Amino acid sequence: MVKDAPLPAVFFGHGNPMNAVQTNAYTEAWRRIGEELPRPRAILSISAHWFVPGTSVTAADAPRTVHDFGGFPAELYEVQYPAPGAPGLARRIQEMLAPFAVEAGTSWGLDHGTWSVLRHVYPEADIPVIQLSIDETRPASWHFEIGRRLAPLRDQGVFIMGSGNLVHNLHAYAWGRHAQAPYDWAVRFERRAKELMLAHDFEPLVQYEGLGPDAILSAPTPDHYLPLLYVLGAWRVGDAIAFPVEGVDGGSISMLAVSAG
Ligand code: ZN
Repeated sequence: MVKDAPLPAVFFGHGNPMNAVQTNAYTEAWRRIGEELPRPRAILSISAHWFVPGTSVTAADAPRTVHDFGGFPAELYEVQYPAPGAPGLARRIQEMLAPFAVEAGTSWGLDHGTWSVLRHVYPEADIPVIQLSIDETRPASWHFEIGRRLAPLRDQGVFIMGSGNLVHNLHAYAWGRHAQAPYDWAVRFERRAKELMLAHDFEPLVQYEGLGPDAILSAPTPDHYLPLLYVLGAWRVGDAIAFPVEGVDGGSISMLAVSAG
């Protein structure tokens, strides 16, 4: 049996949903990631936008494109990302996470945390994609542990991606056209997080609320932060950590991407 080369796990800062239909420095960097990776057999996405009680995987043969936002231009609602599903991978994940119960269902599809990025990484939408929900009732350490348990999928041609934002404070976000320099607390938290990641010192990032006021302002809710912990959980000794995308949008949204592997 031919063994696949291990794939990295990558956390993407997805930012504004309009990135789905724009071409900019972030989307160009996403495109390059897709061009440079060995072609995956399937993609497992953990998106900030499927943050619900309980752990579920999408099990449809053809997951629908979910337009989970309001108040954006019509063109964004017309986007389709018609990638096939991967019901077999959904079953495999159920087995890997047992005895934790993972529900396989068809109620959810691919949300914009997934497709706004994948539209650029894999524009052909020809690689099967499934999503794993983020159980909002679990502590951060649990999400890190799930990433650790799913890490062997990286050896089986599965590209594990987290999609959120390391810094995600919409209250402070500069909507509209004027440029907003990154807030000091955002810069400090991102710098601290990068130092810890490069040192492979993930525990303070798992216990991120202990990192002080900068962390609380950067991750005022856990939904956009937690996908990072799945990717860090999937890191293994000997793997590199790299930041293939950097930047802060609107002062308070970090577009940092983190590659583990
Ligand atoms: Zn988002």
